[in-house]
Amino acid sequence: MVQVTRHVVTRFAPSPTGRLHIGHGWSALMAYDAARESDGAFRLRIEDIDGTRSRPEHIDGILEDLVWLGIDWAGEPIIQSTRASAHRAALDRLIGEGLAYPCFCTRADILAQIAASGSAPHGPEGPVYPGTCREMDPAERLCRLEEGQAHAWRLDMARSVARVGALRWHDEGRGWIDAEPSAAGDIVLSRKDAPGSYHLCATLDDAEMGITLIVRGQDLFEATHVHRLLQALLDLPTPAYRHHALLVDAEGRRLAKRDAALTLSALRAQGVSGIELAGDLRAGRFPLGIRVA
Ligand code: GLU
Repeated sequence: MVQVTRHVVTRFAPSPTGRLHIGHGWSALMAYDAARESDGAFRLRIEDIDGTRSRPEHIDGILEDLVWLGIDWAGEPIIQSTRASAHRAALDRLIGEGLAYPCFCTRADILAQIAASGSAPHGPEGPVYPGTCREMDPAERLCRLEEGQAHAWRLDMARSVARVGALRWHDEGRGWIDAEPSAAGDIVLSRKDAPGSYHLCATLDDAEMGITLIVRGQDLFEATHVHRLLQALLDLPTPAYRHHALLVDAEGRRLAKRDAALTLSALRAQGVSGIELAGDLRAGRFPLGIRVA
């Protein structure tokens, strides 16, 4: 049974790669309300592990936008990059258990391998890694690691799935879902320029923050298959999930942070009341021709 009715702990986990748009506000309000309705807690995590795209100056703006909508959060916001040692410890555990391997391929190598193989199975995040480095001779692997060659760490998906067997998770909208992480292939756990990938860090941090219900967009539904597997491998609890619909603009395009006119800060600058906007979003009334996809 999934317990979702009492003291629900939810979170909003924006990446500081730009300002929040109306879709983020809608998502955050859903998570906030789910916690409040159950006398639970709403928490905030800043997912700043993408060192190339994250900008510290967006963090304050994100907090201001949420406050403007009438949202407050329990405790201090968790800054994901400060949890690097916990992320590394989990990676080390997977490596120690023979479930992760170093991958020395560059993006260009991978594209060339896929082109040469003639078949390119696609996972939810694009072409699946063909597994080249999984097959590497252990002596060569050791030698390249000792030489300090740049590498990522990947999850050995087949071994991992074999280790934990069949898994399920619960989605509020769709009911019980059989976890099918294999479609994603040998996902990246850490990159040379980022100590932990989104999948690894988000899964670990949700557990550390005591999240019992994850409210997030439908675009992350497929990622949940992978997160469920990581929970099983790392002995973490499994929260319940609600993957909500995404919003599109007047032209039917998904909202993007680069579209400045659709940001919360733009509306605020025009004198819109955040509390009134929050009321409208809760009622499914969206400004600027925005609608549910
Ligand atoms: N940081 C992700 C984003 O801004 C959200 C991740 C999640 O909710 O799991 O899209």
